[in-house]
Amino acid sequence: MARHLRVREPDSGEVLDDGLALWFPAPRSVTGEDVAELHLHGSRAVLSAVMAVLRRRGLRLAEPGEFTRRAFLNGKLDLTQAEAVADLAAAETEAQRRQALRQLDGALGELYRGWGERLLRLLAHLEAAIDFPDEDLPAEIEARVAAETADLAGEIERHLADGHRGERLRDGIAVAIVGPPNAGKSSLLNQLARREAAITSPIAGTTRDVIEVAIDLAGYPVVLADTAGLRDSADIIEQEGLRRALARAESAELRLFVFDASRPQDAAGAVQWPGPDTILLANKIDLARDRGDVPEGALAVSALTGAGIPFLVATLAARIGETYDVAAPLLTRARHREALEIAADALRRSLAAGLPELRAEDLRLAWRSLGHITGRVDVEDLLDVIFADFCLGK
Ligand code: GDP
Repeated sequence: MARHLRVREPDSGEVLDDGLALWFPAPRSVTGEDVAELHLHGSRAVLSAVMAVLRRRGLRLAEPGEFTRRAFLNGKLDLTQAEAVADLAAAETEAQRRQALRQLDGALGELYRGWGERLLRLLAHLEAAIDFPDEDLPAEIEARVAAETADLAGEIERHLADGHRGERLRDGIAVAIVGPPNAGKSSLLNQLARREAAITSPIAGTTRDVIEVAIDLAGYPVVLADTAGLRDSADIIEQEGLRRALARAESAELRLFVFDASRPQDAAGAVQWPGPDTILLANKIDLARDRGDVPEGALAVSALTGAGIPFLVATLAARIGETYDVAAPLLTRARHREALEIAADALRRSLAAGLPELRAEDLRLAWRSLGHITGRVDVEDLLDVIFADFCLGK
């Protein structure tokens, strides 16, 4: 229900603001409780005047996340959706927004709940076989439980082996800029970041540490790392820079190997990172008289003039899209990963255990751990499945 209203100071009758009130009766509100929204002119003066009146009536400001917390407690959202609200509020790029929205839609929670339900069924069947041995239960139950446990463990393990894509999409996809000194790495970083984030200078070995810049690359969150030039040096600080550069290049998802186009022999330095995740960049193409020297497979760019940079951005975005634009919901948090690992381990242990009682105990652990992800673990569920599937109690 929406009403146009004048907000008044109750004692003096003075009008404080002119606005709109929305009334959402429980349970059809965002938190599941009765919710009233006042739409006011958001100036500091209006807010403090209205808040002063509301406070006198015993109302207070919400704690951070309190509405989402209440929505969770009232069963409006599961925990993965509550986390998605936080992610959506913090999303800086299109890809992050899409991922958070998909999680808010419940896709991730549904996946985990689906596994939890299957597990619960297995557990219930096994429990039934243990608790009611005299009943007329199909003999192959235990074998079927084992086969389905193995299936489930496999599915969870495949979901875990996702290269941390969901988590990386939240935190930023690591792209390292590597190459010999003076090849133009810092200039490239600046060109991509479109601001002066790294110091460029004609003196070799300027970038001694790793410099990171978070950018929005065609909708993807990318953390660019400019690294020390790859060259042998007696300088101890430079050696440390080199060590860090190599470590960073190693752990990055993609590498931009930059070399001076007039020194095509330098491209050989990229051999230590073979494969499609290393993009070769022949830089300073503005100085080249003809492009005949550019090695095959290298992109010709100029970090100085910006030539070839749009094509590089498109190439990078396409490469990232291949990995990240997937339909299946991705695991987005270390918290989920940990719970899934516990669940997968328990399932494997259950398969190896001899006694059905021990197998059931591990299934229960796995189920509990899955339940922690969405925040819904209820022993009643177990009883329901047992008594629904078998007419044991008459
Ligand atoms: P880094 O050591 O690899 O980080 O190289 P820098 O980015 O510091 O660049 C070294 C020198 O090359 C600087 O003087 C840059 O201005 C210059 N430079 C970088 N890219 C280009 C380019 O595309 N064209 C030209 N002409 N000069 C460039």
